[in-house]
Amino acid sequence: KEQQLAHCFYNSALGDNVQRRALITKRLEHTLMAAKPSFSLRYQPQIDLTTGRLCGAEVLIRWFDEILGWVTPDVFIPLAEERGLINSITTWVIDTAGMQLIKWQKVGYQFQPDMNIKLAVNISAKSLDIPDIVPRFVDKVKQLGLTPLDFEIELTETGIMRDPTQAINVLHQLKQQGFKLAIDDFGTGHSSLSYLKNINADILKIDMCFVKTLLSDNTNHAIVKTVIATAKIFGMQTLAEGVEDKAIAEELRLLGCNYAQGYYYAKPLTAIEFEQTWLGATLA
Ligand code: C2E
Ligand code: CA
Ligand code: CA
Ligand code: CA
Repeated sequence: KEQQLAHCFYNSALGDNVQRRALITKRLEHTLMAAKPSFSLRYQPQIDLTTGRLCGAEVLIRWFDEILGWVTPDVFIPLAEERGLINSITTWVIDTAGMQLIKWQKVGYQFQPDMNIKLAVNISAKSLDIPDIVPRFVDKVKQLGLTPLDFEIELTETGIMRDPTQAINVLHQLKQQGFKLAIDDFGTGHSSLSYLKNINADILKIDMCFVKTLLSDNTNHAIVKTVIATAKIFGMQTLAEGVEDKAIAEELRLLGCNYAQGYYYAKPLTAIEFEQTWLGATLA
């Protein structure tokens, strides 16, 4: 009887899930067809740990649907990847972030250390399957009146490792075009040292699962220390994600981590909040 019950429960949970996923997909398709999709963007400051100053911002998508309410990217991005909708979303993100960037550049805001505002955008590894992805990105950026130097591309370590040969090939081309490359969620994706060397990224983003317990878990402390040392060997810089308090930020600085991002500095902000709170200090 217990088995039967478990079976029933399993089926109904699965049924709900299938239905909900179908609805989310339908609503995603709907909003992508609209003249103005119901997405918005947030900008999360990235801080240089040696100077304490702003050095960049990660662009994070939000979606408020009038029927579903808020749907988090952890839910709809994987679904969009599965249903072939991710490229339209990526295009919307680059367009919207790019137009915002142009506005900010016109005001004259500048970030250290490169002295131009650079936005980090998340790109799904699924997009690497598109044969002409590199010229597409370059054209898109030029169309907007920007250059690849204005963007950093974040790809997750797991995404890269799904087809490392193909990923490395595309990443090399993107880098050649001038995009900066960051490996996201680093430490969770089982890449080897030889791949790491071949990818030739600019930044390793240390996953927040190691950062959060940096001071309470000796193993995670050792992992973070090792990642920072390894990045240095390969000429990469490190950014710690999920920095939520001052003690962790200070320890990361002592360990030689270059950059940090997290609630201790700021949560992901609207363009207006980000401009008002963070960009003023970057005026030349
Ligand atoms: P991610 O790229 O690893 O982004 C970091 C996530 O951590 C963000 O969640 C951010 O809001 C959150 N976060 C930042 N600081 C802290 C902190 O101090 N503590 C904690 N607990 N969390 C922090 P978010 O915005 O919900 O995004 C979730 C994921 O969805 C992202 O993970 C990324 O994989 C994906 N995503 C978000 N926007 C986009 C996008 O435009 N395109 C694509 N392809 N994926 C996106
Ligand atoms: Ca990211
Ligand atoms: Ca991440
Ligand atoms: Ca993540």
